[in-house]
Amino acid sequence: MEITGQAEFADRLFASAVAELDVADVVRARSFLQSNVMMSNTGHLDLMNHDPRSITVAKAVRHLYEPVPTRLISAGEIALCPTCRLPALSAELPEHGTIWCEAEVCPRDKPVTDSPRAADVLLLHRALRLFLVLPGLVEQSCLERLRDAGTPLSQLATGTYAGRLDGTDGVVRFYDRTCATLLAGQVVRDRVTVAVVPANTLDYGFRRAFENSLPDDTEISLLSDEELVLRNNTKEKADAQR
Ligand SMILES: [Zn+2]
Repeated sequence: MEITGQAEFADRLFASAVAELDVADVVRARSFLQSNVMMSNTGHLDLMNHDPRSITVAKAVRHLYEPVPTRLISAGEIALCPTCRLPALSAELPEHGTIWCEAEVCPRDKPVTDSPRAADVLLLHRALRLFLVLPGLVEQSCLERLRDAGTPLSQLATGTYAGRLDGTDGVVRFYDRTCATLLAGQVVRDRVTVAVVPANTLDYGFRRAFENSLPDDTEISLLSDEELVLRNNTKEKADAQR
């Protein structure tokens, strides 16, 4: 379910947490949060396994983690969706899969194999789970596929990338939102020219609602991750193909 203002709230939480870090550490902090939806609540043990730079980053973002809310706890455990790795509610028998997960669109029939004791972990703030970790899944998979295809995106700022689509330079950012109107508002605010969403979100109705919600003078391409991978081409590679 989408809540108005949560994406902006997530951006503010992140920006204030990393305000004192240098550019390289901001990138590290973003990737740390995207790959750690939970943290051990003993903290100290977590940090022993990291290099000194990661410790700086982990310390800066540690306050963004909270005790697991009761609604996500069942029999003292928090289940993680085997597909998106976000919190889920397990079926009565974990081997029967999940009845809900935070991404909302994952297959329900994969067995739940990871459900730590809720008391042992802290969970990343919900706004950041939904607006940093969730789009991080499509972001990471796209970046990998583009790298493998020899047409990598280059990073412009935290979370935005320079791409070259059909011969035109674009500012690319990844999203995973179920409400097209809220997405349009966020994309305009982020000043990107190419918004990428998971293919399973992007049907005719979503595209139409998105376009209808953009201000008149705005030209923003809405692409699925698959379309981005097909259409992105580096200048060097395009020249080589001529
Ligand atoms: Zn899921």
